[in-house]
Amino acid sequence: MAIIDDIRATAIAVPLRRPEIWTDGSRGGTNAVIVEIRTDTGLTGYGEAACGPGNSADPVLSVIENVKALLLGQDPTRIAFHANRFNGIGRWRLWRSFSNFALAAIEMGLWDLAGKMRGCAVSELLGGRLCDSIGISGYVLHDAPERMAEDAKRLVADGFAVLYIKAGLSEEADERTVRAVREAVGPGVRLRIDANEGWTRYDAARNLRRLAAYDLDMVEQPLAARDLAGMAGLRATFGIPIGANQSAWTFDDVGQVIHDDAADIIVTGPQSLGGLLPLLKVGGICEAAGVPLCRHSPAELGLSAAAGAQVLSTLRCLDDAHQSLDPHWVDDIVAGDGVRVARGRQPVPTGPGLGVEPDPVRIADFAARYRKDGPFVVRTT
Ligand SMILES: [Mg+2]
Repeated sequence: MAIIDDIRATAIAVPLRRPEIWTDGSRGGTNAVIVEIRTDTGLTGYGEAACGPGNSADPVLSVIENVKALLLGQDPTRIAFHANRFNGIGRWRLWRSFSNFALAAIEMGLWDLAGKMRGCAVSELLGGRLCDSIGISGYVLHDAPERMAEDAKRLVADGFAVLYIKAGLSEEADERTVRAVREAVGPGVRLRIDANEGWTRYDAARNLRRLAAYDLDMVEQPLAARDLAGMAGLRATFGIPIGANQSAWTFDDVGQVIHDDAADIIVTGPQSLGGLLPLLKVGGICEAAGVPLCRHSPAELGLSAAAGAQVLSTLRCLDDAHQSLDPHWVDDIVAGDGVRVARGRQPVPTGPGLGVEPDPVRIADFAARYRKDGPFVVRTT
């Protein structure tokens, strides 16, 4: 039996080609932590942790450092056992909205190891895949309306059937950008907006009345995460599909959203849920409730994207427009094109484990950038 004999964590900073702007501010890139879990038999499993916009990698590194003692000397294949210990002995469930990022990276690394030890992709460990790729929405970064219109047309020409833009900036800006994108791509393209909790109930009522004219495919997180009654009310009043993202951050949150009829689509993913097992379980909840599951991208990179795709490929009740910042990174952290989005679809990698391997040169470059320039922060002016 292999045992875990070393765990390493590396903070990286990965720039975007141009800043991402949303209701909270703007950022030039993302901070992440790459975890390596090594066994005494010479195998390495890799995982990736998001850090949340504007946070340094320090809190994630701290959680990983604290969890190490629960894993060293242990059998890496007992993934559910280890996850229970993080949340039981470690009490990380008390902090899960944040600590789940770190636990996701570790749990992902254990799945990578489990697949490599058996010589198969993680999806094969979960029963086998139902699809070989997943649909991705084209993310039109917020910018001047004319620039967004051009970007939207290019994404549609590149094969994206669903577009995603940010809202919640101001009433005027929201209508300007939605109108510009809708007019640029015409009526046949599905258009989603994400207000990132930026509206009050009053704002949402005003904005949705105006924006209904642009045939919105989905409005994501119009209200504060806690306001499930408000979300349910918007569904009933406007008839526009509502997505729960910050409201569906953790496993328990998803159950509450379904119970309260607060969303038409659950938008969550391996990072906020704390790994692949909870994502699999959320997939079951969504199937039972008849509510599609859309993968949220908290600026995830190639390792996390591949991990999520392994699970999503085994699920039945899937959305067809998962989220990705893929076209906007200056570069990714994985070798090859195994998880690159093309023609609006992301392939589910077929190699052992997560199916992708980190590129050590690119990770070293992004780690050097983090050390030299520090983490990306959120600017609010
Ligand atoms: Mg969102």
